[in-house]
Amino acid sequence: MSEDCLFCKIIKGEITAQKIYEDDQLLAFWDISPQAPKHFLVIPKKHVNGPGDLSAADDGIIGALVRRGAELGAEQGITDCRLVMNNGAAAGQTVFHLHMHVLGGRTLTWPPG
Ligand code: AMP
Ligand code: ZN
Repeated sequence: MSEDCLFCKIIKGEITAQKIYEDDQLLAFWDISPQAPKHFLVIPKKHVNGPGDLSAADDGIIGALVRRGAELGAEQGITDCRLVMNNGAAAGQTVFHLHMHVLGGRTLTWPPG
């Protein structure tokens, strides 16, 4: 846990979020500023700043995070979905607790810009 981390506060229940899924390792909740008709985030409960700060010991958690993200997308009606992780401020990361965006419900163009 990180004291001043927004997503750690959501994990601890200090800030509310619209949760979709939770287990001992992962939490999924709807994004507060959706960029598609369906847009949620999947985060590890362990605080990691971002993809660039992962260690080999985290491989299992991240595998589960990606697998559950796609499964939850399908459960939410977006079998076709985009799974995104922004790594660093210049890449668009604004919350420095690793998270994967799951977006769908409209046609998503590529490249994203
Ligand atoms: P990123 O820009 O990749 O760091 O993504 C951070 C995401 O967190 C953005 O899409 C925000 O809309 C979302 N976000 C920020 N605060 C909250 C919150 N309190 N509850 C849900 N989503 C949030
Ligand atoms: Zn955190």
